[in-house]
Amino acid sequence: MMFERPRGTRDFGPKDMLLRRRVENAFRKTCESFGFREIGTPTFENLELFTARSGPGIVKELYDFKDKGGRELALRPEFTASIMRLYANDLRNEPKPIKVYTMGNCFRYEEPQMGRYREFWQYNCEIIGAPALEADAEIIALAIESLKGAGLNNIDARIGHIGMLRSYLKTDREAQSRILHCLDKRDFGTLREELRKADLSSEYETLRDLVYLKGGPEVLDEAGELLKGGGNESLSYLRDLSRQLSLYGITDYVFDLGVVRGLDYYTGMVFEIDSPNLGAEKQVGGGGAYDLSDVFGFDFINSTGFAIGVDRVALAAEAEGLKVKEVGPEAFVIPIGDAMREKGFEVLRDLRTAGVRCDIDLVGKGPSKNLEYASSLGVRWAVLVGEDEWKRGAVALRDLDSGEQIEIPLKEIADKMLSSR
Ligand code: AMP
Repeated sequence: MMFERPRGTRDFGPKDMLLRRRVENAFRKTCESFGFREIGTPTFENLELFTARSGPGIVKELYDFKDKGGRELALRPEFTASIMRLYANDLRNEPKPIKVYTMGNCFRYEEPQMGRYREFWQYNCEIIGAPALEADAEIIALAIESLKGAGLNNIDARIGHIGMLRSYLKTDREAQSRILHCLDKRDFGTLREELRKADLSSEYETLRDLVYLKGGPEVLDEAGELLKGGGNESLSYLRDLSRQLSLYGITDYVFDLGVVRGLDYYTGMVFEIDSPNLGAEKQVGGGGAYDLSDVFGFDFINSTGFAIGVDRVALAAEAEGLKVKEVGPEAFVIPIGDAMREKGFEVLRDLRTAGVRCDIDLVGKGPSKNLEYASSLGVRWAVLVGEDEWKRGAVALRDLDSGEQIEIPLKEIADKMLSSR
């Protein structure tokens, strides 16, 4: 009987995992170098955590279920809500700012396609309780450096400000959300309709033109003109942000006032990063400043964060030609004849203890078959444990890369392997 994987999930063979671990390790290294500490949260949460944050509409995008006790649960679709819960319950009294990161699988009931899966992996960083400007710059710098560290040289970072749009849209929060949603999707038909309902029809052209403003600092002046003096505070914030980013040597980004981001809780700076090497699903990460204090019942605190998709970064790194080094066994012990099997295990244990990645014949093949097998694994060293050499306290060591074979005293094998890595 053949069993299929559930739709939207993937298996990862050894080569895939190497690449994915390489990307994840690079992320860890970069964010720890920025002073972030790792946290962990559950894979499933009470459903209401996500509906409280994103509204009941989110349920159709979730894997939700009832457990045997009748509790309504959902597999996490992202991390921010869990991290805010953790902050509200346990971290609230920690010295600020709190800089934390996490990484793991997330689940969304999506239409699968290349780069869009039902189980995917996110790398998520948050800064809670730092001044907005400094935190926003630090988080953008971290996102960009993380992607570079993971091997992406070709990325497009776009920075916008959703607070500017909110302050410009003089209507209630719900109507604002519907209008922002249309702008996010560039759905101008529905936008016109929503603006009419909110009595803001005269703003249609301004908004339509605004979301196409993209480029250097000059677009901030153009936005100022379009908004006829509205949004000035946000525009000068973005100018200050640009100066703050230069402290990190970050200059390679554009302002894009069309970065809206779907979710309601974003309040200020928002950003997105694409990899032009990917197809339709080219966004590798995004984030911004947000406010979830109402949902969790704590006093307002500046929060800013991002999520980067590990799967898409791995795809993009591969497209950019990133090569990963195999970490299979580097040595293979081949006892010559049954009489030497026990001795073979002695050598194996010594090598493993010394830190050599070492394997041994488990199936009792002959030496030539074993050499073939070792080569197929990409092993460099074959350790041939024969009776004659053993009597002299030695083994035969064959370098499978060069074909050269030497006799070497037992106590020197590990050093030779480790020093020629
Ligand atoms: P979001 O939380 O929607 O802003 O997503 C953050 C990042 O996670 C995106 O930029 C993608 O790189 C990644 N991502 C989101 N949804 C998926 C998915 N269904 N499959 C793969 N990656 C995803």
